[in-house]
Amino acid sequence: MNRTEMACSTCHAPLNMLGDPPSYIHPLSFTTDGHEPVPVPAEQLDTIARRCDFCGDPHPVWSLHGGNVTVVALDDSGSGLAQDYGEVWAACVPCESLVSAGDLDGLVARAGTALGWRKGDEALQQIAKLHAAFLASRPAGRTLITTTSWPHTPLAARDLPKVRDRFVRLYRSSDQLPGPYANPQVRDDLAAGLESARLYWIDPEFTTLAEHAAGQLPDTGIDPDDPPAPSGLIVWAQPVTNRQVAAASWSIDNHTGSCRIACYRSIGGGLDGPALQQLREQVGWLAPTRLVEVAPRKVLAPGGPAAPLLATWLLIAQKAAEAVPVELDKATRRAYARQQRPAPEVHLVRIRTRADSRAPAGAVGGSGRGRAPLQEREWVGGHWKQQAYGPGRSQRRLTYVAAYLRGPDNKPIRASSTVRVLGSNRPPDPRPKQ
Ligand SMILES: [Zn+2]
Ligand SMILES: [Zn+2]
Repeated sequence: MNRTEMACSTCHAPLNMLGDPPSYIHPLSFTTDGHEPVPVPAEQLDTIARRCDFCGDPHPVWSLHGGNVTVVALDDSGSGLAQDYGEVWAACVPCESLVSAGDLDGLVARAGTALGWRKGDEALQQIAKLHAAFLASRPAGRTLITTTSWPHTPLAARDLPKVRDRFVRLYRSSDQLPGPYANPQVRDDLAAGLESARLYWIDPEFTTLAEHAAGQLPDTGIDPDDPPAPSGLIVWAQPVTNRQVAAASWSIDNHTGSCRIACYRSIGGGLDGPALQQLREQVGWLAPTRLVEVAPRKVLAPGGPAAPLLATWLLIAQKAAEAVPVELDKATRRAYARQQRPAPEVHLVRIRTRADSRAPAGAVGGSGRGRAPLQEREWVGGHWKQQAYGPGRSQRRLTYVAAYLRGPDNKPIRASSTVRVLGSNRPPDPRPKQ
């Protein structure tokens, strides 16, 4: 049975279907503040508060097909409530291993531990029946879940070659991917694009600038000159926008001129031990989320998933940034040499140092007389304008008009202020101020 999965737009819980015609209810295991479910198609949400259907872990990684279990579930009073459990279950890394191994006892024991039920408890026996029914008619295969909200895992610039290589392997693996990534041609193209991708790591300061500028980006198309390379992978120092975009890759089709942009979110934060190792080997550090196809002259609406990437490109193009090569470790260089591949190049992108600091940090705006010194720096001002460029200045490109960092040099930059922008010196300079 194929039906659209629904989730609650208030709490992002996936909703269970009850009765015919169907009504939607929060999962019994889900504690809410008592609000009514607001069903929307789950695909509209970037993040879904899904739990492992086997043990309740809040970070499921795989969805698995199994027997269609439509009865079940005991509420706290022990009375039964019929509920549709569907034939697709979410599984965390350890539970997926147990399912693959057909280890029903291990699966039930794990659920018992997580739920605080002992062997022999009536509830646990019910769970065992459920799990057995699910395992009984299970086809092979698993699909990556890309909507789970993980704590962010920071990636270093030198990690980018292995992050990229793991992606290529994931796209070429037999594991299924959701939504538009299910298309084999798309997967092939993404893998090929990544293999020749230039790698960019955006430093924390430039990341906050790009995020701020992305929030103000008007509707715009993509010019072939906008990206710094025909294909690339950009990883931001921290996730940008409430979509939790940690990275994006792109490639431009030589024939059609259209651009394909894949956005990624960080996965695996908070895991450790064998589960973490398994996730890194099977999936990697990032999971693909939104895929955006942009035909030439197609206009993108503001606030879309590609906005942070577009803003970052444009800021690089207008030379607000400088890209410096990153020294890679020996192990990475040797691994590439063994595979007879040229050594990977990673660029660290940071805000260009200005020789003359016209608006020295702390000297402008709100740090006037009588105020307490600022405890943070923040980007202030800035707006996009159409700037003429090219032969005879015939072309127009969006350019971010500089603003400045406000606050003392030695203070951290506020990561999520609504007003932030461009044009400062780089990271805190240890030299004493004059
Ligand atoms: Zn809800
Ligand atoms: Zn689990």
